[in-house]
Amino acid sequence: MADIQISNLVKTYPGGSERATDDVSLSIRDGEFTVLLGPSGCGKTTLLRMIAGLELPDSGSISIGGRDVTYLPPNKRNLSMVFQSYAVFPHRKVRYNIGFGLKMAKVPADEIERKVQWAADLLQLGPYLDRLPANLSGGQRQRVAVARAIVMDADVLLMDEPLSNLDALLRLTFRSELKKIVQDLGTTTVYVTHDQSEALSLGDQVAVMRKGRIAQLGDPLDVYDAPADRFVGGFIGSPPMNFLDAAVSHDGGTLVLGEQQLMAPSILRSFAGKDVLLGVRAENVAVNSTRSSGDVAATVLVVEPMGSTTLLTVEVDGHPLKVQAPPTFKTAPHRTVWLGFAPNTMRVYDRETSMALE
Ligand code: ATP
Repeated sequence: MADIQISNLVKTYPGGSERATDDVSLSIRDGEFTVLLGPSGCGKTTLLRMIAGLELPDSGSISIGGRDVTYLPPNKRNLSMVFQSYAVFPHRKVRYNIGFGLKMAKVPADEIERKVQWAADLLQLGPYLDRLPANLSGGQRQRVAVARAIVMDADVLLMDEPLSNLDALLRLTFRSELKKIVQDLGTTTVYVTHDQSEALSLGDQVAVMRKGRIAQLGDPLDVYDAPADRFVGGFIGSPPMNFLDAAVSHDGGTLVLGEQQLMAPSILRSFAGKDVLLGVRAENVAVNSTRSSGDVAATVLVVEPMGSTTLLTVEVDGHPLKVQAPPTFKTAPHRTVWLGFAPNTMRVYDRETSMALE
């Protein structure tokens, strides 16, 4: 069992005025793939480095497989790590690089050979074992770094932005390969990224971090469909969630968007008479060229054909909004379109605190 229990971790760097992690608690089950996601400086790398033992917390604790490892050195934690920079030895062959950790651990040579071959097969590095890293592509070099980590047979695999040095296409390909490899190995994995699509595609659970804290922890669909606050909704999704000021009528039956009114979905009944912030995903708004009952008028600002869909930036009572139309939808800037909001997909937030109200 290699579950990870993180309790109340606080870390302030010397000279730092803010806490890099501010009372972070997180529970990771054995075999689970957890992604730490957030903007630059939110503390995700610090949290990962504390799990690795490369940084020590000011307070709080970390246990792996029921063992308190908070103050143990990295090599006593039975984990392996993949960094953003490949960190391979440039003057040593791929074979040596993959087997390096095993050699340090004094594993017999024939077993090293066997494991290196196994990892090389898994990561399609077989033909390159006798090459120097300099003669590999970026993607191949990153595969070497992953191979070197997985041969260790560690309880926990830690990865810090391992795909960020790859070009967009390679990132996509390697992402799904990595997912399959980690799934097959079943190793407990903690993965840091600032790329929300990577987080959604890879994670069993996603911890969205902001200013040293976990803003939301949930499975990918949860954090996408029901962001805990405006920050999470704005960070996850491409385009980000739309947020609109709205008011619920005193009888709770009508939603008022500026000058326009539509029927309030039943989830809003308990907010009768209140000003709220509505969170709406682009794909949950139907875009029509003619008016249906309950539709809201919007003016088209920008039309962006994306292939499978057309992204429209429209304006509703002075608020810009991103919506998606079918690729065949014909419109142009300055035209009026009609928007139908799918009631059960609307999320309601507090105007003052931006926190979800449901
Ligand atoms: P990025 O995606 O840019 O790597 P991050 O979310 O991983 O960001 P951290 O690197 O964990 O964030 O940094 C969290 C906070 O701690 C930031 O304010 C950062 O400036 C600060 N910090 C990180 N490392 C150090 C250090 N060695 N010394 C002082 N402050 C640091």
